[in-house]
Amino acid sequence: MAEPFPLAPALWAATATPALPTPALADDVEIDFCVIGGGYAGLSTALHIAEAGGHVIVLEAREPGWGGSGRNGGQVIPGLKYDPDDMIATYGEEKGHKLLQFAATTADKVFDLIAKYEMDVPHVREGWIQAAHSDEGLALAKKRVTQWSKHGVAARLLSKEETADRLGTTSYEGGWLDPRGGAIQPLSYARGLARAAVSQGARIHGETAVTDITREGERFRVSTAQGKTVRAKKVIMCTNAYAGDLVPGLRQTFVDVNSFQVATAPLSDNIRKTILPYGQVSSDTRKLLLYFRLDHTGRLLMGGRGPFREPNSEDDWAHLVRVVTKMFPQVKDVPINYRWGGRVALTQDFLPHIHEPEQGFIIDVGCLGRGVGLQTAMGQALAGYAMSGNADLLPFPIRPIDPIPFHMFRRVGLAAIIAWYRFQDGGVKQT
Ligand SMILES: Cc1cc2nc3c(=O)[nH]c(=O)nc-3n(C[C@H](O)[C@H](O)[C@H](O)COP(=O)(O)OP(=O)(O)OC[C@H]3O[C@@H](n4cnc5c(N)ncnc54)[C@H](O)[C@@H]3O)c2cc1C
Repeated sequence: MAEPFPLAPALWAATATPALPTPALADDVEIDFCVIGGGYAGLSTALHIAEAGGHVIVLEAREPGWGGSGRNGGQVIPGLKYDPDDMIATYGEEKGHKLLQFAATTADKVFDLIAKYEMDVPHVREGWIQAAHSDEGLALAKKRVTQWSKHGVAARLLSKEETADRLGTTSYEGGWLDPRGGAIQPLSYARGLARAAVSQGARIHGETAVTDITREGERFRVSTAQGKTVRAKKVIMCTNAYAGDLVPGLRQTFVDVNSFQVATAPLSDNIRKTILPYGQVSSDTRKLLLYFRLDHTGRLLMGGRGPFREPNSEDDWAHLVRVVTKMFPQVKDVPINYRWGGRVALTQDFLPHIHEPEQGFIIDVGCLGRGVGLQTAMGQALAGYAMSGNADLLPFPIRPIDPIPFHMFRRVGLAAIIAWYRFQDGGVKQT
């Protein structure tokens, strides 16, 4: 499998807790549940199946956390793109409230698992600030505070001055603080989930790419690149943006876009206390959003869009470096130590999609900027459904694999949309 971005030199690999050995599959296996993909979704699914006494194996093409789960910004943000009233209006009272309950607690799941399994994961939970870049962004912040407050969240609107004080930049018009959010070291968390799953009896095999899934009587035969096979009663596929062409049409149900990040060298104490001094993490209301935080070693991280093609030089991160120095002039002399990125699978409705092309073959795909909590929680739901067959345990309905019409032209279309968004976003330019 081609490696779109190097994981090894990235910040998270340099500061992560050691990985559990996950040797390649070396024997043919007959088992109840086979999970494909070792990101948060796959590992959480395996953990919850194993916790409930199920026999489960995870097959991961590279190593646990190699995909989005080891590359992301580590911001733990609850909720979905849609706000509480939207969820109830779209799904009705009963289903809407069920979805709301699911969406409201995704961040809790992450911090609860870290605590329960005493994972060696640097983390903090001081909240998430969504910074408003415009009047429209401020209106969104107000709407979110009003709606989440009605559901018992101690959300708070921040004035322009308080936002500047909490972020350490005057680039924003205001914002809101969601106390449920926080930050983790993302690769350590993926490794922590893997450890927890193994402690509960799950098997995890890295360097084991699945090449085919075929129904064989009562079971599925899952073939791997090494020629070993797993015969399982149920298969749960959690390959997300890295899905490839394993399932016909699946890749055409989403558009994979790149998200890029840079990290500075550790900041001096003097500079550090001027940026996000109260421990929050932040992303903004731009359509092409910027997200930033300090990590546990005091580096400033900045994330945003990347080019559609694979990167070929440091210039591909130059827009983010410019944003860092424009928003935080106090770090202009601090070197950028790390540049990396990963893929995000955008579905048309910006929600995760659950498919079941054949009974017992369950697929979870679609990630957005909230996948740390969301895919952890999805794993728990998928485990519940796989073990019981009760679709009420799923937060979203199972849907057919419906390729996006004219998918091959979507990238061209997206490039145009992105140019338009950049124009609309204004403010701190990323190019
Ligand atoms: C740069 C970036 C920044 C982000 N920032 C944030 C953030 O700050 N907060 C947040 O909540 N979310 C963020 N996200 C989103 C979040 O990282 C993802 O939603 C989440 O990690 C997806 O988890 P997953 O388990 O579904 O998929 P992944 O973690 O991508 O895992 C899929 C796995 O499947 C494996 N695989 C693929 N094909 C095969 C095969 N044939 N056989 C076996 N294995 C296979 C891959 O190797 C991969 O390890 C970010 C994403 C990116 C890329």
